[in-house]
Amino acid sequence: MKRIIYIPWGIANSYRNRIEINSALKQKPKLLRYVINHERGHKQGFDLWHDMDIRRYKTLISLMWFIAKHPRMWSDFSPMQYRRGKIVYDLNVWMLYGIVAVLIAVLFLIF
Ligand SMILES: [Zn+2]
Repeated sequence: MKRIIYIPWGIANSYRNRIEINSALKQKPKLLRYVINHERGHKQGFDLWHDMDIRRYKTLISLMWFIAKHPRMWSDFSPMQYRRGKIVYDLNVWMLYGIVAVLIAVLFLIF
């Protein structure tokens, strides 16, 4: 079982032997549980589909709202991140931006 480590920035990240989670989420035990379960469900490497799972969209909306109110959590939306002394590119985030860009373009074309 992966250890849970609380950090003051970002939202959550899953590593081989641990899960890092923003300590602000402790204020909302329901969201914290959701995020921990989500991170435990991640496989190693590229698995964007796990992040595309919107079956629990109500929890996701309250999570988005919570993130919006906590600017220190926004760093996870940056496609380039500074982790453990090096800059890493998060392919999942690039893909996510790509999908959002396409959605916005489609909305513009329709309305
Ligand atoms: Zn995820």
